[in-house]
Amino acid sequence: MSTDSTRRAFVKMALIGAGVSLGSASGLGRIATLSEAASQGYSTPRASSHPTDPRQALERLMEGNARFASGHPIHPDQSPTKRKELVEAQHPWAAILGCIDSRAPPELLFDVGLGEVFDARSAGQVLDRAVVGSLQYAALKHVKLIVVMGHQNCGAVESTIASIEDHTEPPGDIAYLVSQIEPAVKSVLHKPGSLLKNATIANVDLEMKALEQTPIISEALSSGELRIVGSYYDMQSGIVDFEIS
Ligand SMILES: [Zn+2]
Repeated sequence: MSTDSTRRAFVKMALIGAGVSLGSASGLGRIATLSEAASQGYSTPRASSHPTDPRQALERLMEGNARFASGHPIHPDQSPTKRKELVEAQHPWAAILGCIDSRAPPELLFDVGLGEVFDARSAGQVLDRAVVGSLQYAALKHVKLIVVMGHQNCGAVESTIASIEDHTEPPGDIAYLVSQIEPAVKSVLHKPGSLLKNATIANVDLEMKALEQTPIISEALSSGELRIVGSYYDMQSGIVDFEIS
């Protein structure tokens, strides 16, 4: 039996054990059944022990993303028992800076559970003091990896391109977001290929460089305890690509 089919069988058994019907129940009926299962204290698979260095952390994220992309996530550590275990303390091993886009939620893309990763999200992953401070806090909590993740069809980057091309300024504080993404777009205006994808990757690159120079994070990086990696999420394939530079 392949690993995937073993996993599927395990998940199926876990659901059946918790009284969840896998039959042709209507959507509403299925939600009610899942809700009953939750009240009975269903279990989900346990995540393995936490990664202890940046390489292991990256491998763990890539493994989880492969499960997500193939349509076989295991949704580890999401049971009521796990939730209660984490009440007193958390020890996340990675921090993910991503866009607010509703199609790119880190826990789902990397198939990780409660207590595993810090998330910081802003449109276009734009850095401000609150975002930088949040990631510095994650570094102080000894995460092994910070992932800066851009994504396909990012509306914030699209808006920045439109603002440059049409010579317009977006309303409210959206103008701040655009002003922060503008240098990335301008740096690839004449590069061949998709302007949107090139600009999104250039933006990730600039955000990584800016983070690397901040206090706390720069110290954790020089100690070798922390690594920062850039990535690009392709919605079509479901794959988060870490080889973008
Ligand atoms: Zn976006």
